[in-house]
Amino acid sequence: ILARGRDVCRRNGLLILSVLSVIVGCLLGFFLRTRRLSPQEISYFQFPGELLMRMLKMLILPLVVSSLVSGLASLDPKTSSRLGILTVAYYLWTTFMAVIVGIVMVTTIHPGGVAQKEMTAQSGKPIMSSADALLDLIRNMFPANLVEATFKQYRTKTTSVVKSIKEASEEALPRPILIYGVQEENSSRVQNFILDLTPPPEVIYKSEPGTSEGMNVLGIVIFSATMGIMLGRMGDSGAPLVSFCQCLNESVMKIVAVAVWYFPFGIVFLIAGKILEMDDPKTIGKKLGFYAITVVCGLVVHGLFILPLLYFSITKKNPIVFIRGILQALLIALATSSSSATLPVTFKCLLDNNHIERRIARFVLPVGATINMDGTALYEAVAAIFIAQVNNYELDFGQIITISITATAASIGAAGIPQAGLVTMVIVLTSVGLPTEDITLIIAIDWALDRFRTMINVLGDALAAGIMAHICRKDFIQDTGTEKLPPFET
Ligand code: ASP
Repeated sequence: ILARGRDVCRRNGLLILSVLSVIVGCLLGFFLRTRRLSPQEISYFQFPGELLMRMLKMLILPLVVSSLVSGLASLDPKTSSRLGILTVAYYLWTTFMAVIVGIVMVTTIHPGGVAQKEMTAQSGKPIMSSADALLDLIRNMFPANLVEATFKQYRTKTTSVVKSIKEASEEALPRPILIYGVQEENSSRVQNFILDLTPPPEVIYKSEPGTSEGMNVLGIVIFSATMGIMLGRMGDSGAPLVSFCQCLNESVMKIVAVAVWYFPFGIVFLIAGKILEMDDPKTIGKKLGFYAITVVCGLVVHGLFILPLLYFSITKKNPIVFIRGILQALLIALATSSSSATLPVTFKCLLDNNHIERRIARFVLPVGATINMDGTALYEAVAAIFIAQVNNYELDFGQIITISITATAASIGAAGIPQAGLVTMVIVLTSVGLPTEDITLIIAIDWALDRFRTMINVLGDALAAGIMAHICRKDFIQDTGTEKLPPFET
């Protein structure tokens, strides 16, 4: 028994360490909360976790570019178009199913009706219109500058322009007197400030396309995939670039193999640091508690029943074994709240533990981390209907259908970064005329729900790779199992 135990530990050492690190992180976080650390002490304490995030983010760009270019260039055009169509269709289908699960859950549990008067939203104006959000999605698909796309994405910014408090209203004042600031992430703070002024000033909201920090992964995915397909068609003349990308991809995976040993340590501080920062759980009202339970139940049903059943019915393989193989990636998703940052680990798990054909993983995973977000879609649908319930607003069948379509679109538009779903939710709310400022109702709990929905996003991508590997296996057997590289002569 001892020998077997040692064997299990040796083979699953990293996984055991990762599970322990989540537990230790939670315990340490709650223990240190009692010590009332200063903000500066907390920021020092968070440093090892910050390093983990930086390491993962550092790997995203080379990994996405190299895997898509080399993956698509080494497939013959027939296989790549089949794989592309199947993958995108599968992603849309499962996202839509997630939305349906969310809608069933929220209409059954009805969290918004538990204590109607308990919540009051901060009034204000829309943070961003849904037309702007959709235009941003399309803008991000076509980055004007590829270098800029590696660190910035398009995001329409709404500026609150506060007119003078006394003189403003009557006079010749479209002229703004005080520009308080960009009302985006800080929307509630800006609105509180404005509302505190007496007499209340007139506020003009102005939207302008701008950029925000963070990589434009969608633009990079579209560019790399197009380039991969074109290089594959170029034959011999494209070979140098293809083999460069294959080498790059291999070397990034080798870096990941070393870096993973740091991850359990980083996870402890990432989780404990977040617990130190969070609001007092007692301040979260009953209604918000029910809302959180609804989202989590929906995620559990979709992630632990529907997706595994789908995997089983298509592949006839045991989904539990598959999920065990990607457990480490799921823990990283829990710790980082980012499916893009988790991407390197998802790759490693799929290749090393689940033995997925690497050319499939190279296409299915980066695309999935960008557009396939079942957890986000489910949460957006639940949140929109919850906000309707809180406002005592009856949604008709047509509006429910609108929510399911826009929640699917909004999840595609959300980047794989922390709390991106909160921003794209504006699309869902405006589509059925719900007040976008009511997003402030759910902000308090969003950081926690984000972690769970990111786990489901990552799980959905990984299972998709397993299913595609099964469906397309014949294409790859004909392909002799080795990468089809055009002959390259120097
Ligand atoms: N954090 C999520 C992800 O990275 C996106 C979201 O729902 O906010 O997948």
